[in-house]
Amino acid sequence: MGDVMDALREAANLAATRAYAPYSGLFVGAALRSVQGNIYRGCNVENGALPVGGCAERAAIAAAVLAEGADFQLAELAVAAFSAKDPFLAVAPCGACRQALVEFGKEAQITFRSADGNWVVTPASALLPHLFVLPET
Ligand SMILES: [Zn+2]
Repeated sequence: MGDVMDALREAANLAATRAYAPYSGLFVGAALRSVQGNIYRGCNVENGALPVGGCAERAAIAAAVLAEGADFQLAELAVAAFSAKDPFLAVAPCGACRQALVEFGKEAQITFRSADGNWVVTPASALLPHLFVLPET
């Protein structure tokens, strides 16, 4: 799995170079592998109306669903980020993205840079204990 994770990290780094982040200067990329074995990427897309902006992880998920439909299942996802000051920023998936990740793979392996520079690898479910599940009404 190390090779897969390394490839996804590299793809996430490349995706980050495509980010549209003129307001924060935080360029984020995500790359995921589906259970079917396909790679999808996403980048953050900001907006002058700040809350309208979207995250790289959910952009990658949208690309995967577009290609594979409702059968899409997440196997692994890498997130990478940089700024003008730091080419290797530590950025973990935000809370909204954690909820989006567990929707498609509770046991999917998620990797991102921690503050000490090492890559964290953790199941999506561990990132979001007590996740929201839509109750039957
Ligand atoms: Zn997010």
